[in-house]
Amino acid sequence: MSYISIKDLSYQYPIGKKQALKTINLEIEKGKLYTIIGENGSGKTTFCHILRGFIPYFHKGELKGTVSIDGKDLFDYEIEELAIKVGYVFQNPFTQISGIKDTVFEEIAYGLENLGVEREEITARVNEVMDLLGIQYLREKHPIHLSGGQKQRVVFASIIVMEPDILVIDEPTSQLDPHGTEEIFKIINIMKQKGKTIILVEHKMELIAEFSDFVMVLQDGNLVMQGKTEEILTDERLLSYVGALPQYALLGLEMIKHNLSIKKIPITERQSEEIINNWLRQKNLVS
Ligand code: ADP
Repeated sequence: MSYISIKDLSYQYPIGKKQALKTINLEIEKGKLYTIIGENGSGKTTFCHILRGFIPYFHKGELKGTVSIDGKDLFDYEIEELAIKVGYVFQNPFTQISGIKDTVFEEIAYGLENLGVEREEITARVNEVMDLLGIQYLREKHPIHLSGGQKQRVVFASIIVMEPDILVIDEPTSQLDPHGTEEIFKIINIMKQKGKTIILVEHKMELIAEFSDFVMVLQDGNLVMQGKTEEILTDERLLSYVGALPQYALLGLEMIKHNLSIKKIPITERQSEEIINNWLRQKNLVS
């Protein structure tokens, strides 16, 4: 049975002229990483807001269809219960730092404090998460004095410490440089290894190719493609929906166009190296 089940989901904002999501059907398995891609305004953030309960709790509007999470209808969850079940990381880390705590340690502890968790347990859980994410060195720093990448890692820590089963992550690296981006994907990978179900909005093809299990493509509120990452990222239709494919897939497609036989189209650097080496061997160009 799927972990998140979405049937005929449509949604229109109260002041919207058209539906932001149109008859979406999707089954999400536990412990897998799903990436949503699509142009601006295609409905990615709206979709995330539904999983997190912001819609229909805060934005009213018209929601049709059903969403069930872990066997329970979205409407049957209390918003507090959903907040623990589904951790949500926003695009911009600056808006997710509380602004009322003086140290990174206290910032990460804040959510547990609100739940009334005992101090001893808070200390143990915050320490564990800081170790896991490699951010103990930021412990006594003031959250407002951190770099964008450090802030984003602290935001992740403050979500992960709540131990959500599901993580919804909306463009977590849009404000970050390549180093900050790499650090965030290390964290996402750690969460994947821990068996979390992850729904990620991200457009960097090479990162999606590396880490994602499944890809969904939204266009103008419609789910126009969905499938395994290697299927979607090697499908030329993606060029018309989002204007991009991984550079390794483009290379593979070019090789096929030039009648060079390859077993499968690569999407990562490692796969393309393998394919090119095999091909050279076949042609006896290398031993
Ligand atoms: P994306 O995240 O893919 O950029 P969004 O989910 O933000 O797309 O937007 C989908 C559609 O919903 C767009 O047409 C957008 O204008 C509209 N929309 C988004 N937020 C609101 C809102 N708060 N009120 C009314 N319309 C909105």
